[in-house]
Amino acid sequence: MKSLKKLFFLLIIIGLISAAVLYFRDTKPPQVSLTPGSGPVSQKSKLLLALNDDGMGLKHLEVKVLQGNNQLSLVERDFPAQTGVADIDLDLSSLRLEDGGIQIEVLVTDQSIYHLGKGNSQREVYSLTYDTRAPVISILSKAHNFTKGGSGLVTFSLNEDVATAGVRFAEHFFPAYRQEAGYYACLFAYPYDAKESEFVPRVVAVDLAGNERQAGIYYRANEKTFRQRKINISKNFLAQKTPEFETLVPGVSDPLEIFLHVNREIREKNRKKLAELGHKTSATPLWNGAFMRQPQAATLAQFADNRTYYHEDKVIDKTVHWGHDLASVAQAEIIAENSGEVIWSEYLGIYGQCVVIDHGLGLQSLYAHMSQVSVKPGDMVTKGQVIGRSGATGMAGGDHLHLGILVSGVPVQPIEWWDKSWLYNNIDSKLNID
Ligand SMILES: [Zn+2]
Repeated sequence: MKSLKKLFFLLIIIGLISAAVLYFRDTKPPQVSLTPGSGPVSQKSKLLLALNDDGMGLKHLEVKVLQGNNQLSLVERDFPAQTGVADIDLDLSSLRLEDGGIQIEVLVTDQSIYHLGKGNSQREVYSLTYDTRAPVISILSKAHNFTKGGSGLVTFSLNEDVATAGVRFAEHFFPAYRQEAGYYACLFAYPYDAKESEFVPRVVAVDLAGNERQAGIYYRANEKTFRQRKINISKNFLAQKTPEFETLVPGVSDPLEIFLHVNREIREKNRKKLAELGHKTSATPLWNGAFMRQPQAATLAQFADNRTYYHEDKVIDKTVHWGHDLASVAQAEIIAENSGEVIWSEYLGIYGQCVVIDHGLGLQSLYAHMSQVSVKPGDMVTKGQVIGRSGATGMAGGDHLHLGILVSGVPVQPIEWWDKSWLYNNIDSKLNID
């Protein structure tokens, strides 16, 4: 009888201990995070609610949106047993909200029996701004005249802060940069390879809540035809260039195959690199008047020459020449054609040893095939300053300078930028630069 009592007592103790273990097993509330958890949102915003319970799992969730005296239920759900994590998309488009401040209240409980069986709960309140109004765009600049392969500028003002602003057409986007006076300036190109029907530039602005507005601009686009050029890739040229290109094309030994790989794949890779550099730019203009053409240099090849390559009388390749080739004497001094910041000074495939100078608003100049370079990234250079000497590195048969002008990575016609009155009428006067 005594031992039975003892056993009974022991069972009670074990029961109490297990109950206590169970009761105190999970005393931590679930964790809640909302992205974005502050700032502006719209009916199109994607809000992600991330829940996580390390203990016995999530049980119940309630999300409400509060605005003024309104309390709107957004989500209410129970979780299946052992749900440790849950990612929930919140969609505000189903609610009738007015523009202005909102609060998102998240209440979540777990499966624990702590707090007399109610479990642990977590309440978080996020304050956001509901904004469904797209920015208002006012175009400030008047005439926008473009020639195929050339550049132009539009200026505009916006009534609110934006996440992105610029000019868009077809697959192209040219970013705009906010100026100290408060307006935006966007330098863009009528790319040589864009179809006439594709070139319908529009100003686009997207605010911080994701609301987008587009505005048309008055523009005139002039067509231009470019030259056809034959280039003979001789055995001598291949013999001269193969040692340099071999390192760029490992595993290939045939000189013509090496040349074609460089002229296609490496050329394409280099173009992508320049497009990437195009965004590494000053938000304000660094140039100072018209670009300065290399002194005493004759033109060897022009911008957008359509090149057909022959080898032993057979067509082997086609490219477009994205710059202007200039030559004077061998190892001629090369000058920065305008003021700016050096953002690249190293070997770059077909361009050989090359320098890229940023002039602001996405405008950049490229100096290729150099034999010597005397500047490094971060250097500020002034118009006319010597930056190195000409050479024949990269895809060059003889000593010359390949000069490229780019707008947000898109190659454009250099002659416009050498022309003082074109520059004033189309660019500088719109930026109030004398
Ligand atoms: Zn060239």
